[in-house]
Amino acid sequence: MEAAGDLPQGCAPAREAEEPPGAPALPAEEPPGQEVPPAEAGRERGRGRRGAGPQGPPGRGARGRGRRAPGRRGGDDGGRAGRRPRVTVDSSKAKTSLEALKISLRQLRWREFPFGRRLPCDIYWHGVSFHDNDIFSGQVNKFPGMTEMVRKITLSRAVRTMQDLFPLEYNFYPRSWILPEEFPLFVDEVRMMKDSDPSWKPTFIVKPDGGCQGDGIYLIKDPSDIRLTGGIRPAVVQEYICKPLLVDKLKFDIRLYVLLKSLEPLEIYIAKDGLSRFCTEPYQEPTLKNLHQVFMHLTNYSLNIHSGNFVHSDNANTGSKRTFSSILCRLSSRGADVKKLWSDIISLVIKTIIALTPELKVYYQSDIPAGKPGPTCFQILGFDILLMKNLKPMLLEVNANPSMRIEHEQELSPGVFENVPSPVDEEVKVAVIRDTLRLVDPQKKKRKDIQCQALEQVSEAKEEALEVPPEQDTSRAPEPGLPSLCLKQVFPKYAKQFSHLQLVDRVAALFIRFLGVRGTTKLGPTGFRTFIRHCKLSNSNFSMASVDILYIDITRRWNSMGIDHKESGMCLQAFVEAFFCLAQKKYKSLPLHEQVGSLVGFCEYHLAALDEKRQVCGRGAAERRAAVGAGQTDGLHLAPAAHPPLLSRTAVATKLTDGRSHRY
Ligand code: ADP
Repeated sequence: MEAAGDLPQGCAPAREAEEPPGAPALPAEEPPGQEVPPAEAGRERGRGRRGAGPQGPPGRGARGRGRRAPGRRGGDDGGRAGRRPRVTVDSSKAKTSLEALKISLRQLRWREFPFGRRLPCDIYWHGVSFHDNDIFSGQVNKFPGMTEMVRKITLSRAVRTMQDLFPLEYNFYPRSWILPEEFPLFVDEVRMMKDSDPSWKPTFIVKPDGGCQGDGIYLIKDPSDIRLTGGIRPAVVQEYICKPLLVDKLKFDIRLYVLLKSLEPLEIYIAKDGLSRFCTEPYQEPTLKNLHQVFMHLTNYSLNIHSGNFVHSDNANTGSKRTFSSILCRLSSRGADVKKLWSDIISLVIKTIIALTPELKVYYQSDIPAGKPGPTCFQILGFDILLMKNLKPMLLEVNANPSMRIEHEQELSPGVFENVPSPVDEEVKVAVIRDTLRLVDPQKKKRKDIQCQALEQVSEAKEEALEVPPEQDTSRAPEPGLPSLCLKQVFPKYAKQFSHLQLVDRVAALFIRFLGVRGTTKLGPTGFRTFIRHCKLSNSNFSMASVDILYIDITRRWNSMGIDHKESGMCLQAFVEAFFCLAQKKYKSLPLHEQVGSLVGFCEYHLAALDEKRQVCGRGAAERRAAVGAGQTDGLHLAPAAHPPLLSRTAVATKLTDGRSHRY
């Protein structure tokens, strides 16, 4: 399966991402009286956020709209009457992405609030994580739970679940074991593989959980080489990719920027250009002698910057950090199929995000429960990808907080460092931030909504012209001086090719439905029992006592190895395991993904029938109440309730149930 690769062409000019020449730099300051002085920033910021003032309108649909005091709009947005208000961005928590953000905001002529703002902003730009319970409206550039989701162990688990279901589709992630709990399995599997193929001389890479920038990473040749100081630390041990693609005899990896614009519905964009980070020692396949040479095996910028061979370059095609497009250009000139490579990269990104979304949705509903005011989220992710010699892309990791620094440290003289601008970083990162903002622009959305309303009115009035004339179509208004977007949509654009993989998402939807109390991420025993009952999964072969045993067994095991002990109960991954177990029992002879698919369908079907029944009962009761009320008040006759569509669907439902085998 391949995603059509109309994305970055091999030699797409990296310059496309440049700051438009002559774009006037607008001052970012507030008009007098609007800016919050630094000392007051923390206190003042609270006022426009959660817990302060009137709540935003309930329901998620309303969240995108910030709350503004009536009559103050022009003043707040720094615009005069009649002018379009500028988008407001709170950059007080932007941290190391601040410089790139500032340049982007100047290019867009948006309004920056570097110390926060009394009133809500349209966008809150956070440097690290979502972590802000005060925001009730607007958009935040982080999803709750993303940092936890992309930790090495959590990511490996999420991908493993998908590998269990779709082994061939998820072969872009190296074989991994989670330490300490899978250490015995690691030892056994390696021994077995070595026994069956004595010529196999593997190397493994051990990566501490929660580590970054190459910290604590080391290579080993045998499971017995795992460092045991103070017991086995939580880590992922992975098969080392021994034959990476080399450029100038050096190993390199790719940092690609991916925008998760929305979780529900899923919307993914990929930046047309990324960065290639180079090792600083010529590569040799791992041997016992060179295993410790980090400048040869690890591509981390933070490590290689300390090598005497590191080359800073203002040119995107040379040096130890280059644009990815420059590499593609080189590969293309060597005759490589760059289109296929892009297509594989798009698949890898979409599949990885599909693996992450189920748990992200659990975090999301816990932090921002449906029906309560809160912000919407989007997030730029950093995908680290290694190309194998045969050009197959392999996922190394996902960064929830990719560095958006646009300068680097340079050693002027021994021991004396200075931060100097890095044109390569600026070129790629400013474009990614600016175009992310363009894509989430709340005013564009408003203009679109207005346009839709206008269109509806026009069609209602049965006027001839069904299209808004170009001069009125503000959503298509050109953004003067800005280059075309560097972010390209890949989902839902290619959704059809990947929708079959969204199976665990459907399992997560069942899990969320039975979570019950808002704000939790774990399912209690009662919730699990209700799930079994409502989905009609218990029968004479599978009693409720067995249900309880299944719950206790799986939950206990997951909680004994879990990092999160804050809440008791069954986490999503444990629920998924229980669900797979039930699916295997029920649909014995099918492959796992079909077993799970069948069980999900079975559950969804019964829940839909239940919902329908409740709706009918609810309506019946309401009508009875209304009839009684009407009889008592004005004596009007009610028309008899008619639910033919509901009844016929229920009849179909009964047929389907009868036709299925649901014995364990
Ligand atoms: P960190 O978050 O500490 O940077 P990574 O998983 O990105 O951890 O690994 C660090 C570096 O190690 C990568 O940039 C890459 O060069 C190398 N690396 C990681 N995993 C593998 C692997 N399975 N095979 C080959 N090289 C790897």
